[in-house]
Amino acid sequence: MKQDVIVIGGGPSGLMASIAAAKHGAQVLLIDKGNKLGRKLAISGGGRCNVTNRMEIQDLIAHIPGNGRFMHSPFSVFNNEDIIDYFEGLGIALKEEDRGRMFPVNNKATTVVETLLNQVRSLGVQIRTNTTVRTIEYENEAVKAVKLDNGELIQTSAVIVATGGKSVPHTGSTGDGYPWAEKAGHTITDLYPTEVPITSNERFIKEKKLQGVSLRDIELTVYNPKGKKIKTHDGDMIFTHFGISGPATLRCSQYVVKALKKFSTPTIKMEIDLFPKQSSESLFQEILSEVKDNPKKSLKNTLKGLAVERFLLFVYESLSIDSQLDSQSIPHDQLRAIVKMCKQFEIEVNGTLSIEKAFVTGGGVSIKEIEPKTMHSKKAEGLYFCGEVLDIHGYTGGYNITVAFSTGYTAGKSAAEHVLHR
Ligand SMILES: Cc1cc2nc3c(=O)[nH]c(=O)nc-3n(C[C@H](O)[C@H](O)[C@H](O)COP(=O)(O)OP(=O)(O)OC[C@H]3O[C@@H](n4cnc5c(N)ncnc54)[C@H](O)[C@@H]3O)c2cc1C
Repeated sequence: MKQDVIVIGGGPSGLMASIAAAKHGAQVLLIDKGNKLGRKLAISGGGRCNVTNRMEIQDLIAHIPGNGRFMHSPFSVFNNEDIIDYFEGLGIALKEEDRGRMFPVNNKATTVVETLLNQVRSLGVQIRTNTTVRTIEYENEAVKAVKLDNGELIQTSAVIVATGGKSVPHTGSTGDGYPWAEKAGHTITDLYPTEVPITSNERFIKEKKLQGVSLRDIELTVYNPKGKKIKTHDGDMIFTHFGISGPATLRCSQYVVKALKKFSTPTIKMEIDLFPKQSSESLFQEILSEVKDNPKKSLKNTLKGLAVERFLLFVYESLSIDSQLDSQSIPHDQLRAIVKMCKQFEIEVNGTLSIEKAFVTGGGVSIKEIEPKTMHSKKAEGLYFCGEVLDIHGYTGGYNITVAFSTGYTAGKSAAEHVLHR
């Protein structure tokens, strides 16, 4: 039997594509190789599912550094407010947290996944789990069939590829969609890890001196080899046994990957500012006034509240300052050196964890070969792409899931219109 629309992949993009295609009148078959749908969605946002982000469209796009501008068109079809209305319309109350992040009020990703699955089922979408697609068959530059791993051929005139990227492969995202796109004539831009922890060979990292120390509301900057700022992000971070992690680190990671490649250098410099809202001079004056108020107290006790204690102890050790001495006996140039390490803490970084360990895959099917209003391929008739398989990526914070829902909805709607108006 010939299917109207086949959706390959049951992540957020494929689930939304199936829903939109069915709502627009198509008979839909959703295929996924896993035994469950929405596995990555279920672990996203720390298991709470960061369904979308309530920012203005311009800001939303600014938080999608990987080809965000492409999203203007899909957002005109289905955007973050539509996602919010959609879930609230189905009885899922959402709440807004810091930086516009939207979560289900009950903090359960499974509620979001279950709701999508119920919708898919109630719209009559046929679901085949534990079913791996091997390839897509084309004829005369048009989609003809989907071929399964067991050799079965399913005829169709519309296929939506929603297979995701290559990150966290145990969720099913193993990069299967890229060769099918290439087969149709698409370009796959370089794949790289993004939203990923950063590695460093610094001695203090290897010796695990700061492992487990987290810093809040800092500013993290990536520099090019000439000392020019490439990107600064604010937020929280943590030192690990291999380097650094945490939200600000993840947001900086793609710039590290790109800079190491662009400048063919083994390491690049990053800098942490623990006091981004304060100038070095004002921090120095603050320390000086603490010292003046507590001349007989040890430096360690005088500056106790300034920053995380383990961090400060590391600073004293690095600067060979005896922090047990009376604070009044510490020369001003040493106090200024403490300020410098707090405002410009340097760390040479040499890479990131692997693409498999990244939250998101950078690169993918080139957006130049996709119609943004429909997500239709410019290379093969009846072929659509949505979600992370595309060369579009955002910061964590709901942006990738928003891209997945928006491009998924757009692809599903267009595919249904394509097959029904032929
Ligand atoms: C731990 C973690 C936390 C995250 N947190 C956030 C967050 O807070 N905010 C945010 O915006 N993003 C977050 N992300 C990223 C976000 O989850 C992904 O961008 C999103 O899930 C991509 O959706 P997708 O539908 O494109 O692909 P996926 O969710 O990867 O789904 C792809 C599906 O395709 C199926 N498939 C693949 N190949 C085949 C095949 N050959 N045959 C049949 N089926 C196949 C897979 O089994 C899978 O179900 C997080 C990711 C991870 C790993």
